[in-house]
Amino acid sequence: DYVSKKHIGDGRKCLPIYQFKDKLLQMIRDNQVLVIVGETGSGKTTQLPQYLHEAGYTKQGKIICTQPRRVAAMSVAARVAVEMGVKLGHEVGFKIRFEDCTSEKTVVEYMTDGMLLREFSSQPDLKNCSVIMVDEAHERTVSTDIIFSLVKDLARQRSDLKLLISSATLDAEKFSDYFDCAPILEIPGRQYPVDILYKQPVDEILEEAVAATLHIHVTQQPGDILVFLTGQEDIETVEEMLREKVKHYGSKMGELIIHPLFANLPTELQARIFDPIPEKARKVILATNIAETSLTIEGIRYVIDSGLCKLSSYSPRTDMGSLQVTDISKASAMQRAGRAGRTGPGKCIRLYAPDHFQNQMEDNCVPEIQRSDIVSVVLTLKALGINDFKNFDFMDPPSDESMIKALELLYALGALNSKGDLTRIGKLMAEFPLDPKLSRMLIAAEKYGCAEEVMTIAAMLSVDNAIFYSPKNLQAMAENAKKRFEDGDVGDHIALLRVYNSWKETDFSSGWCRENFIQARSMKRARDVRDQLMNLMEKAGIELNSNPNDLDAIKKAIMSGFFPHIGILQGSGSYRILKGLQNVQIHPKSGMARVQPNPRWVVFHELVLTRKEYMRHVSEVKPKWLLEIAPHYYERKELEKFFPRQL
Ligand code: ADP
Ligand code: MG
Repeated sequence: DYVSKKHIGDGRKCLPIYQFKDKLLQMIRDNQVLVIVGETGSGKTTQLPQYLHEAGYTKQGKIICTQPRRVAAMSVAARVAVEMGVKLGHEVGFKIRFEDCTSEKTVVEYMTDGMLLREFSSQPDLKNCSVIMVDEAHERTVSTDIIFSLVKDLARQRSDLKLLISSATLDAEKFSDYFDCAPILEIPGRQYPVDILYKQPVDEILEEAVAATLHIHVTQQPGDILVFLTGQEDIETVEEMLREKVKHYGSKMGELIIHPLFANLPTELQARIFDPIPEKARKVILATNIAETSLTIEGIRYVIDSGLCKLSSYSPRTDMGSLQVTDISKASAMQRAGRAGRTGPGKCIRLYAPDHFQNQMEDNCVPEIQRSDIVSVVLTLKALGINDFKNFDFMDPPSDESMIKALELLYALGALNSKGDLTRIGKLMAEFPLDPKLSRMLIAAEKYGCAEEVMTIAAMLSVDNAIFYSPKNLQAMAENAKKRFEDGDVGDHIALLRVYNSWKETDFSSGWCRENFIQARSMKRARDVRDQLMNLMEKAGIELNSNPNDLDAIKKAIMSGFFPHIGILQGSGSYRILKGLQNVQIHPKSGMARVQPNPRWVVFHELVLTRKEYMRHVSEVKPKWLLEIAPHYYERKELEKFFPRQL
């Protein structure tokens, strides 16, 4: 134990930030707000809170460090617990949505920025806290942006509070300006040269990523590979393709150890990216932009950059938030390439043309608050008692249009009254760490007598898209297994409910999951989320009633939150969203995609924009329910335009 502790201690001293320890502490003593800029891996996230703890700040109150991503909050807390030689959840802990790993003892708390917003609503002066470090500030998530304004205000009220704003890119001036000219400390990183090679894709981008990985593996010097892809689905596809290739050529090449890395991956599996590998083997990590700045992985010499990422986006054109695969910014492309030069000279293969980089990619990513659905932000602000949005000190304000749309929707959901004040329902909704539409659906479920069922559906929808899987060689069997849950064309929501309930009947058996081509780890996550939702529902005094057989009631509850997500059949297979986009389709993986004739009215969970515009998680509904459920949102006249006879 002594040896390992000494080893870790020495490691800490090797980090670039260590040289600046005294200067940092001095600057923090002398200033209330400090902006810190340093390359990924320089030690900001893991070391700064420890320095402050060692310097005695935690005697005055705890240190909070925010992270935009759940994964980062968990893994960094785990790492710091090891470095401090304490048990995770004791002196060092983390808080993320649906999981609180802190205790009375905790003095260093890593949490998602969303969780800090919740802390603000229960304790606006954060009086038990001495330092707030807003980390990964360059990511500019909506929650981080709101936190900027709240902590700026708080710092004026509490002279004892210290604020650290830390960021990986050199856009520090903007942060400094915003925080009344706070000083900036720059920590130079270790950066070796990185050769950048461009390979304009001929094939599908995933095929290209696989080819590039194998090319490096076979022809290049030792060193691990980091591949940037858009999300879980692509990562799992590439993983499967690589494993397939390795099976065929395995004996002719060195061992290739493949690790996926995305937000929804369970912690144990995420942690495996840090495992040492046998000599002569090579590690390849297939990651989302999590690996861009928020997680540091040692030993990477090669980066393969798809040039794409999945971003939440809101456009007045679609009048809807959606996940959209988009080009990354030049700044991101540079960050990604930089990952290859941390331990020595590296190489980065960009799967796009130099011209694309020069002329298509924006310099910086637009802050999320200006490109995404801000309904939940507006609800959070209202719950914090903030009503004057015009004078709220946004670093970059959201557009008036998206603000008005958000207020309209909250009104239609019953969260605000006509004066714009939060209603009882609105207050309840703000208690749930969910999209307001999901919260509304949960609250409505009580009225329709199906709280248990809707809770399950909400939990299943919260685990993203990874419930079913379909191995290449057993596709037909996997499809049949899935079809059994969809029997009667009940729709995807009810199918998810059936999956969960069948699993529950087997006493949550993993064997059952395997037989039915269902991801056991996603199911376990759904169960955890469901448990948390149940606690919240009980706390909110919502009766947990149940009526598994009244499918219409369940769908009405869903529609009570998702009435803006209504599609109407236009031509064959093509839908129009009632107040928005034309020409959207049911996602090919939806059980409703193969129903003939096509359902005329559907409710859907989310819109996914790839090459086409798809509705994902779809169920058939009756238009007359809309009049009952959303009279403020749709007028009868408006609905009659589409299908007069059906009303
Ligand atoms: P920054 O926040 O400046 O990007 P970090 O504090 O996250 O840097 O990381 C500093 C160093 O700590 C990394 O270079 C890496 O060596 C090590 N490290 C961080 N997290 C882990 C982990 N979970 N396991 C092993 N090493 C880690
Ligand atoms: Mg960091």
